[in-house]
Amino acid sequence: MSLPPIPVFFNEIQLDFKPLYEWAFGDKIVHPETTARAESIVAALQSEPAAFEIREPAELPLKALQSIHSPNLITLYNTARLLPEDVTFYPSVFPKSEQVQGDPTNMKHAGCFCFDSGTPLSSQTWAAAAWSAACAKDAAMAVRKRKARIAYALSRPPGHHATRDLFGGYCYFNNAAIAAKDLRPKGRVAILDIDFHHGNGTQRIFYRDPKVLVVSIHGDPVTFYPYFSGHAGETGSGRGKGFNLNLPLQRGVTGDDYMQTLEQHALPAIEHFVAEFLIVSAGLDTYEKDPIGRFKLTTDDFERVGNALGRLRLPTVVIQEGGYYASHLGRNARALLRGVREGSAPPPG
Ligand SMILES: [Zn+2]
Repeated sequence: MSLPPIPVFFNEIQLDFKPLYEWAFGDKIVHPETTARAESIVAALQSEPAAFEIREPAELPLKALQSIHSPNLITLYNTARLLPEDVTFYPSVFPKSEQVQGDPTNMKHAGCFCFDSGTPLSSQTWAAAAWSAACAKDAAMAVRKRKARIAYALSRPPGHHATRDLFGGYCYFNNAAIAAKDLRPKGRVAILDIDFHHGNGTQRIFYRDPKVLVVSIHGDPVTFYPYFSGHAGETGSGRGKGFNLNLPLQRGVTGDDYMQTLEQHALPAIEHFVAEFLIVSAGLDTYEKDPIGRFKLTTDDFERVGNALGRLRLPTVVIQEGGYYASHLGRNARALLRGVREGSAPPPG
């Protein structure tokens, strides 16, 4: 039986945002979140038209962004639209006092709405981030309306570090949260974050929510970004207690180690929760050649991971997060998606 193609949501406007460098511990380095990442994925998926069908998402209604993000954060991105075209703005003052009221119409206050120095703003940020979120929303809608069993959002810039009112970690709008908000009225949603870095934004947004389970496998935050969240002891709070599972791992994790954590801890938690929808925050910076991640997964491992996720046989929204070895990112995304598609196929006979 032939499987239907996976709808892939992407808009070329997402390529207009080009952060050139970032400040990392005082060093000016080439920004890893390049447009080549998305271009590599588009090329790889276009090469298999029977398996993947690339579509443009519909424009995202403002209320979808407002359902997750604070008015100040949205206003700040709008303020950044007025920056001269050749200016990229890096917040460098991050006030911590609760008395400070940041003015989101003043770019100099951007540090009030940001938690690191690697995530710049430009006049193009709004459009790229809003279309990136639109991809996630439309992928969720395709699954919710049963037009597809599996849908993929080629979201770039990524989203899982963005909280309700803060941007950071190359993330502006939390794409997975926007997708979860769309699905949540229809049933229990499990978000599985497989990016190398802990998705602090997604955790924070759903930390008190018992209808959205957040599970994350990532590099131990004692050593790795974002440092301040992702520890095993963070399990949710209030009514959300017990609905957040962090599975931090040490550097050097191989595909076999990873599969063990996935199959023995992450997937059973999703089954126990009796999830009705699965959202995968698909960071591929766990790749062995990734310049930022420190795990050792191979392209074949991504297909194994996808296969295991597919075997959950849940309506599934896969949303692109990190992954910075751009020239292999396309083949890795394709391997993951191929795995999900084949894993979800009904057994023969
Ligand atoms: Zn990452």
